[in-house]
Amino acid sequence: MAVANPDWRPARVVENRAIARASVWLTLEAADGRPAAFEPGHVLGVGLKRDDGEMLRHAYTVSAGDPAARRFSHLYRVIPHGRMTPLLETVAPGATLYFHGPGHNPIQREVRPEAERIVGIATGTGLGPLYGYAAKTLREGETRPLTLYAGFREAADLCLEPELRALAEAYPNFAYRFSLSRPHASWTGLRGRVDQSVPPLLGGLSGLHVHLVGNGEMVHLWRPALRKAGMEKERVTIETYFNHHAEPGADAIEAFAERLMGRS
Ligand SMILES: Cc1cc2nc3c(=O)[nH]c(=O)nc-3n(C[C@H](O)[C@H](O)[C@H](O)COP(=O)(O)OP(=O)(O)OC[C@H]3O[C@@H](n4cnc5c(N)ncnc54)[C@H](O)[C@@H]3O)c2cc1C
Repeated sequence: MAVANPDWRPARVVENRAIARASVWLTLEAADGRPAAFEPGHVLGVGLKRDDGEMLRHAYTVSAGDPAARRFSHLYRVIPHGRMTPLLETVAPGATLYFHGPGHNPIQREVRPEAERIVGIATGTGLGPLYGYAAKTLREGETRPLTLYAGFREAADLCLEPELRALAEAYPNFAYRFSLSRPHASWTGLRGRVDQSVPPLLGGLSGLHVHLVGNGEMVHLWRPALRKAGMEKERVTIETYFNHHAEPGADAIEAFAERLMGRS
């Protein structure tokens, strides 16, 4: 697609910095003088123009926004042998990328006002928008208990730990836990995938709003199981990054719902 497409807006790369193995924090600044007021959970198309003129593009969720500076950030995973992210990783500050949008709702607007507790569950880079949402809503006075759970494979994949620790120190109603599916022997955090480690920690489902972000295998297991376990549709909100068509199967969902209800 030609860059001249009016939907695509130019942005200056402010920062494109690895913050963990294969996880990169990208900050862009709108370069067309128009407003760029985005919030965690908004989804933008991001385009990278290759030397041959082809525009590579994908959807990326906003992790943080600074409307006054017309800046916004994404946390993305570099996919080995991926079409776009190995190239995106090499883009230097000052270079031009393209964006359009937003689509989707900010997480803050999706979380139900009547919920008494909020839980965010992420796999991999899905942690970015959940972290950004937590930072924004706590700064703006959120007083409900808010806990984030993030699943990664190994300790080298963990990201945003200092930022989450600072939030937990500043706000007594905020907590976070990491779960590793391949932990090293001395790992003291949670072990296993989030569907293995998190259910016993939820303290039941009463009063809860759950926001799920990341791998479709996780999202499409948790959402129907939470619904089966009695949660209202509006109290379970999602964003899927890949494996969009994962179908865990009725038996797996049923068994997981039983776990969520503390019956197995
Ligand atoms: C609504 C939406 C929001 C998204 N937001 C983000 C985001 O904020 N951060 C982000 O990293 N990705 C996000 N993605 C995924 C992103 O759009 C691309 O699919 C991804 O960056 C693939 O890049 P690629 O061209 O290098 O890989 P491709 O050549 O397209 O290879 C794709 C393969 O990589 C795998 N894959 C894709 N995304 C991920 C991922 N995040 N982690 C692990 N494996 C993955 C899948 O198995 C997929 O088959 C989002 C996708 C959607 C639909």
